[in-house]
Amino acid sequence: MHLAGQTRALLEQWARDRGASSGAARTAARALVGRLAGRKSDARPSQALLDAAAEFEQQLPAAEAVTDPDGTVRFAVTLADGAVIETVLIDQKESDTRRRARVTVCVSSQVGCARGCSFCETGRLGLQRNLTAAEIVVQYALAARHLAAAGAAASQSTAAPGNVVFMGMGEPLDNLDEVLQAIEVLTDPLGFAVPERRITVSTVGIVPKLDELYARTRANVAVSLHALEPATRLALLPVARKWPVEELRLAIARSPRPVLLQWTLIEGKNDSDRDADLLAQFVVGLEGARVNLIPLNPGPILTQRAPSLVRCRAFQKRLADRGVRALLRMPHGQSIGGACGQLAGARRQS
Ligand code: SF4
Repeated sequence: MHLAGQTRALLEQWARDRGASSGAARTAARALVGRLAGRKSDARPSQALLDAAAEFEQQLPAAEAVTDPDGTVRFAVTLADGAVIETVLIDQKESDTRRRARVTVCVSSQVGCARGCSFCETGRLGLQRNLTAAEIVVQYALAARHLAAAGAAASQSTAAPGNVVFMGMGEPLDNLDEVLQAIEVLTDPLGFAVPERRITVSTVGIVPKLDELYARTRANVAVSLHALEPATRLALLPVARKWPVEELRLAIARSPRPVLLQWTLIEGKNDSDRDADLLAQFVVGLEGARVNLIPLNPGPILTQRAPSLVRCRAFQKRLADRGVRALLRMPHGQSIGGACGQLAGARRQS
């Protein structure tokens, strides 16, 4: 059992199971979640409980970090069974277009993925296994420690990453219980204290799980649409065979919070004016919905590539002209492994 997978409630139960009173169990749990997050805690647990806590694994896994000139750091994280997953630290400075600096950790939720999207390197691997909550939380902890060490080396005080996105390897809704437990650990105000509203869970559209996701967390939801023309959608996203877009739209419309719609732009596949018009129609009636346009990072199919920047901007403008808020997001860390899954894939082969 890794300490990182334990919520405060689980730690309290663990201490009570060892005969601690409710008060002592509460104190021990507060101290342990604080310790994991590298915080100084006022809680003074009994020595016996501190000794017992040695039964938790507390080491972080080995990680190889590669830094892109744009500041993005991609980690190849080797888990206890030798599986390699990816975590990405995205450090966005203040700029003309960004009022506030923003540091985000992109975490994986599975080793590989069963959903097989055609443009995705991770999908090519197939599903190897789900990650535990602890294996998700340690990714954040690794990235936060890397950031703090880099800040210390530059004599700067560095705040912990304030945002988490589940957009790494895997489909989070195929591993929902562990993802939700990881969110509970990450948001504990006495631990890592990431605000729930700054966490985004991204799905390719596992329709039966969306209502459960809405009900069990206040984290943001992002849905990868990528295409609405049926044949194109099916070719890009095998999941569309199971849940047609009409069903997906109904599930998105039931969200109690605005949903972020993601559209990976692929030249000649989904970047036409007609595609933009279909997307604009899809958004009508979805209160507060926003669109992220992401030019494709090179993936497993060499003929699939991003459209020119001019075409991407034209697609964005066509949406804007139809009243759709759409941001063009340039991919981060392109020189260090490109698309999600490529760095881990390279580590597995080496
Ligand atoms: S895009 Fe996401 S859901 Fe699709 S194969 Fe890749 S990791 Fe899985």
